[in-house]
Amino acid sequence: MTTQITYSTAQLQAMDHAHYLHPFTDHKDLGAKGTRIIERAEGVYLWDSDGNKVLDGMAGLWCVNIGYGRTELADAAYKQMLELPYYNSFFQCANPPAVKLASAIAQIAPEHMNHVFFTGSGSESNDTVLRMVRRYWDLKGKPDKKTIIGRINGYHGSTVAGASLGGMSAMHEQGDLPIPGIVHIPQPYWFGEGGDMTPDEFGIWAAQQLEAKIQEVGEDKVAAFIAEPIQGAGGVIIPPDTYWPEIKRILARHEILLVIDEVICGFGRTGEWFGSQHYDLKPDLMPIAKGMTSGYLPMGGVIVGERVAQTLIEHGGEFFHGYTYSGHPVAAAVGLKNLEILRDEKIVDYVKEKAAPYLQSKIAQLAEHPLVGEVRGVGLLGAIELVSNKATRERFAEKGMAGSICRDMCVRNGLVMRAVGDTMIMSPPLIIKPAEIDELVTKAWKALDMTAEQLG
Ligand code: PLP
Repeated sequence: MTTQITYSTAQLQAMDHAHYLHPFTDHKDLGAKGTRIIERAEGVYLWDSDGNKVLDGMAGLWCVNIGYGRTELADAAYKQMLELPYYNSFFQCANPPAVKLASAIAQIAPEHMNHVFFTGSGSESNDTVLRMVRRYWDLKGKPDKKTIIGRINGYHGSTVAGASLGGMSAMHEQGDLPIPGIVHIPQPYWFGEGGDMTPDEFGIWAAQQLEAKIQEVGEDKVAAFIAEPIQGAGGVIIPPDTYWPEIKRILARHEILLVIDEVICGFGRTGEWFGSQHYDLKPDLMPIAKGMTSGYLPMGGVIVGERVAQTLIEHGGEFFHGYTYSGHPVAAAVGLKNLEILRDEKIVDYVKEKAAPYLQSKIAQLAEHPLVGEVRGVGLLGAIELVSNKATRERFAEKGMAGSICRDMCVRNGLVMRAVGDTMIMSPPLIIKPAEIDELVTKAWKALDMTAEQLG
């Protein structure tokens, strides 16, 4: 029999500092501050190892769509582990949960998308995108069509392909990225980069950067354009209304695949099953992850539209690509149960009809705060821009300082919001109730007050 040892927060923090290298973390800073250890969760709330209760305004990392503590997912995993904990999907094999999940995803995906390739994460999904897109054009007899156009400040993951497709300069600087054959155009970030243009004018301008880049690279060399419907990690950048229609007009004139990264927007976040449906886009490929299992187990995939799928199936022979955990039976069983809950409890409708209108109307009130230059949102995504001058959209001199103070003040008030520079962002679980939205907004206002006070 094993004895369960209980560690104090200080002991866990010391072990953590001694042995654990975290993602996206400055470890010297972490050592000084002490890691926050999250111990348990229920609904939209987390509890840390000191017993503090925190409202999770980020759904973990944009993923816990159905909220914490759903025992049905634990039961599905337990049952599947006893039945078949693992088998691969290589070499003409499959397992029932993976097959059922592929079929269930095809049912909710846009009509022209009927196939799924499974991965273990969003980053692996975008690695798969790169491989598939190039394979597609090879099979079409156009092997020179290799270049993928992404967007500055877009995020598509942290593997070499994912980070290259993304446009995060800090990531590119640390790894000689992007790899060749990936280029970027400006983002549709009106508040930060729109200058004197109206949002509508800027949306058209930003979309036209795609046309300009296609001309520069040469259409015969461009394979695909990849974008998030709404840039999440970049700061919940919601494109002006003119942006996606203009991008669609441009794509209609060119023979280029459209990849819409649904890792954040997929599975209900915008009030539709996918962000592509919210913006009426017709992607060829949709990388997915996160909300696919509500984060209860790691899993990702790429939903593949007919023109790519049929080319790969009819003309591709064996596609030399895949992961040990592609279609993992336990993750798939959890994904399937998660989809069942989203569907049976009509959670996507709840977002569209109730939660999103309420959240958006409530966070709009935060725009009255002296520190706030803009509040924007779609579905259950929101962003709050912190500025030193509301009228001119002027930022504080030291970039990111107001944001990091505000993030700390949120935590002190029992709320998780993330800071991207001086933009506060939120993405709560989809099941958040109106009273919990009230609590989120009250806590955010208080954190803004405390931030303003500290900034002096
Ligand atoms: N794509 C988008 C839009 C994301 O937001 C993320 C993660 O935040 C990824 C891809 C990468 O997913 P993962 O962290 O599961 O590799």
